[in-house]
Amino acid sequence: MKTIHEPAREIPVRAEADIVVVGGGPSGIMAAYSAAGEGKKVMLLESRGYLGGNLTIGLPILAFLDVNGKQCVRGLAQQFIDRLAARGAATGHKRCKLHMSLTIIDSEEAKNVALDMMKEKGVEVLMYVFCAGVVKDGDAVKGVIVESKNGREAILAKTVIDCTGDADVAWRAGVVTHKGDKDGGLQPPTLMYNMRGVDIQKLRDAIVLHPEDFDMDTMPKEQFKEGKFITVGLRQRIKLAQEAGLNIPVARTILITGLNPDEIWVNMTRVSGVDSTRPESYTRGEIVARDQMKDITAYLKRFVPGFENAWVDKVAPFMGIRESREIEAEYMLTGDDIVYSRRFDDVIACAGYPLDIHHSTGGDCTMVFTKDNHDIPYRCLVPKGVKNLLVAGRCSGYTHEAMAATRVMSTCMAVGEAAGRAARIALDEGVEVGKVNVKAVQKELRETGAYLGD
Ligand SMILES: Cc1cc2nc3c(=O)[nH]c(=O)nc-3n(C[C@H](O)[C@H](O)[C@H](O)COP(=O)(O)OP(=O)(O)OC[C@H]3O[C@@H](n4cnc5c(N)ncnc54)[C@H](O)[C@@H]3O)c2cc1C
Repeated sequence: MKTIHEPAREIPVRAEADIVVVGGGPSGIMAAYSAAGEGKKVMLLESRGYLGGNLTIGLPILAFLDVNGKQCVRGLAQQFIDRLAARGAATGHKRCKLHMSLTIIDSEEAKNVALDMMKEKGVEVLMYVFCAGVVKDGDAVKGVIVESKNGREAILAKTVIDCTGDADVAWRAGVVTHKGDKDGGLQPPTLMYNMRGVDIQKLRDAIVLHPEDFDMDTMPKEQFKEGKFITVGLRQRIKLAQEAGLNIPVARTILITGLNPDEIWVNMTRVSGVDSTRPESYTRGEIVARDQMKDITAYLKRFVPGFENAWVDKVAPFMGIRESREIEAEYMLTGDDIVYSRRFDDVIACAGYPLDIHHSTGGDCTMVFTKDNHDIPYRCLVPKGVKNLLVAGRCSGYTHEAMAATRVMSTCMAVGEAAGRAARIALDEGVEVGKVNVKAVQKELRETGAYLGD
C-alpha cells in the first residue's frame, strides 16, 4: 500500500479526567453513570450527536428475563427502563419463547433519559468527537486522542472504558482483537426501518388463526394473542415472494411491534460481508440495505396481512452492526460457558440469552438454547497486555459463539454498569483497574440491586 509520512506534532490537552468512557451506547451510558460519584471526574465521549447507540435504531431490549422467566438483569439497566416507563416510553418485560423476553422502548426518549442520567451524576458528555488514538506510557493507557471539527486533541485519564462496540480504543492501544468465526465470517448487519399504518390486529389474527400459513419459528401461536410481539418466521410467505421475483435477503420475517398501535419495526435487510471497521465496506452496506428495503416493503405489502395500507415512516439513523472486533481478554467467554450455564468466582453480571448466530453468508440463523442463565466473569472486561483499560459491551472478551448471546442490550448494560463501578472502586483502592478487588465490585453491585446469581 502507498504511504505518506505524517510528521509528529504537539496537540492540545483538551481535558483531564479520572475516568473516560468512550462510546455512549447501552454499555457506555451505564458505565459512565456508575463510574461517577465520590468526586470523580467522569467524561463520556460520543462520535454521534446523541447518546444511545443501538438503543436508538428501533430494537427491543431482549432477555431481561432468562429461559425460566427469572429476571437475570436488574440494577441500573432496570432503573433505565423504569425511567422510560415513567414517561410511557417502555413496556414491561414480556416473555417470549424465542427471545426469552422483549422490552419495547422509545428511541427518542432513550436518548433523553440517557442525557438526564448523565446530568444527574455530573458526567461531562462530549459529543461529535471520534476517538482516533490513545495516549500510552509503556503498556499503560493514559488517555485518548479525539478528532473533531476542532482538530486533534488529547483527553487524559487515569482509567479508560472502551464502550465503542468495535473495540476502537483497545485496538488502537494494541490489544489483540478477533473478528468473526474461524473463517472471519461476521454476523451481517441490518438497516432497521419503521412502517406505520399497519393493521396489527389483522397480522395477529393471521398468525393465531392460520398458523399453517403464517408459521412462527418455535413460538406458539398463543404468544401472539395479546400484547407486543416479535414475529420470526413466515418462511412460506417469503418463498412465495421470492417465487414472484422479489429479492428478499432473509429466510425469516422479523417484525417488531412498536409503542404506537399501528407501528412495526422491520428487521429484514441483511448485507453479508460488511465490516464496520472499514468505511468502504460499511458504506456498501448502507447503500445495498437501502436498495433491499424496496423489495422487502413490496413483500410485506403484498404477502403479509395487515401491511396493505402501511408506509415507510422512518429509517434508523445508521445500519446496526451485530459483530466486528472482540478483544483478547484475560478470560474469553465461550459458547459452552453459556450453554452449560457456567458460574465464575469473579461474576460481575448474569445473562440469559441463547446463542443467536445470524449466518455470515446471509439467509438464516442458528439458535442454541440454554437451560438457565449464566455468569459473565470480570476477566472478560480486562484486555490482555494493556493496563488502565476496560472493554465493555459487545466487543468484550467473548468468542464468536458467546458474543452471539452476550451482544443483547440487557447484557451490555449489566456489563457496562459493572465496568463503571470497577473503575471507580479501583481508583479508590489505588490499584490498576485490572487488579481491582472483584469482591468489592460484587458487593457494590449486589447492594445497588444488580443480580449476580442466588
Ligand atoms: C440489527 C441488529 C439487531 C439487534 N437486535 C437486538 C435486539 O432485538 N435486542 C437486543 O437487546 N439487542 C439486539 N442487538 C444487539 C445490540 O443492539 C448490540 O449488540 C448492542 O447495542 C451493543 O451495545 P454497545 O454498547 O456495545 O455498542 P453500541 O450500541 O454500538 O454503542 C456504541 C456507541 O459508541 C459510539 N462510538 C463508536 N465508536 C466510537 C469512537 N471511535 N469514538 C466515539 N464514539 C464511538 C457509537 O456512536 C455508539 O453510540 C441487535 C443488533 C443489531 C445490529
